[in-house]
Amino acid sequence: MAGGLCSTFCRLLGMVLNDSYLQLRQQTLDLNDEGRAYCVCHSIKGGCCVPDLSMLPEDQQLIREAVERGDISAATVRRAQARAADESVDRCPFLGDEYECTIYPYRPVVCIQHGNGGLPKDKATALRAMERPGKRTIRLRDIEQFSCTACGERNDDNDRIPLSVVGKSVAILVTIQNAEQHYGKHRMNDFIAEHFSEI
Ligand code: SF4
Repeated sequence: MAGGLCSTFCRLLGMVLNDSYLQLRQQTLDLNDEGRAYCVCHSIKGGCCVPDLSMLPEDQQLIREAVERGDISAATVRRAQARAADESVDRCPFLGDEYECTIYPYRPVVCIQHGNGGLPKDKATALRAMERPGKRTIRLRDIEQFSCTACGERNDDNDRIPLSVVGKSVAILVTIQNAEQHYGKHRMNDFIAEHFSEI
């Protein structure tokens, strides 16, 4: 969504999600647009959609409200409940049969960020990426936590990505990590198991 639209959209729907979360979500959507040209995901379907994903409390609220409004169908939730309860399922319960995300517009921020950069191995470079990236680029091999293992196996380590894109990604990842430290980790499978009992 273009700048500010997510916030406006959510307000029109009467959500009471906090502004910090809406801002983070919008920044991540913007990064997703900008980072698409450098995205290392290469459309490997579902490789990154691990089970028991750690998500923010507001991610959960966004999904809950979408279910209440009927924007996420009961069938989608029931399917996810069955998958969350099935120990043989080694992917996110919301991953569809065609490896698509069945809650795509409402997916957690960490899912939106995925594939659009990561943490440089060198801490000083991470700080520079956020504060004064200029027109510099960085090699993929100098970045940790860059997309999923499956994607990583297909990357050319010598490919380069603008430091400015990496800097935005670092800022988002650090915000998520700080929130996890503050609020604890909220897990997707627990969330699905503990909510929607009325469905
Ligand atoms: S919510 Fe969607 S994008 Fe995120 S891990 Fe699950 S299936 Fe993948």
